[in-house]
Amino acid sequence: MAIAVDGKCPFCPAAQTVYLESPRWVLLRHLDPVPIAGWMMVATREHRSGLDALSPEEAAEVGPILAAIAESVRAVTGAERTYGITFNEAVRHLHLHVIPRHGDDASTTSWALADRYRATARREIPPAAADDAERAARAVADHALAKLRALGFAAPATK
Ligand SMILES: [Zn+2]
Repeated sequence: MAIAVDGKCPFCPAAQTVYLESPRWVLLRHLDPVPIAGWMMVATREHRSGLDALSPEEAAEVGPILAAIAESVRAVTGAERTYGITFNEAVRHLHLHVIPRHGDDASTTSWALADRYRATARREIPPAAADDAERAARAVADHALAKLRALGFAAPATK
């Protein structure tokens, strides 16, 4: 199955830190450089090309998972709202971004966020400090676990 454009899949096996996991899902954070601390990703364990490729079980779970993660991202970061997007373009392994949208920072608003994302990737503006991003991700996982246990989530067995 073709996965990433370059033939390597960074999510499979998860080459990233897994903050929470279930039989069908993993909670990750956006890798550095990340524009905003608290930028999380929810990914399927299996390769899925998009939302229309989810299994019936995954499709039933994705809504409650995203609702819980969005609530936790908002609580942890103090964001007024969150965004949820998925492209699966660079990596053909379904991953849904949950992004804090700060009311006092216009660069986190709507499509301005895309500009900020690209400027961060080009190192034109500083990313969130890795320590802050890591701390926020751990806090989101801790906050979300109570709601996600019912869906089979737990802290990873290793790491
Ligand atoms: Zn993969």
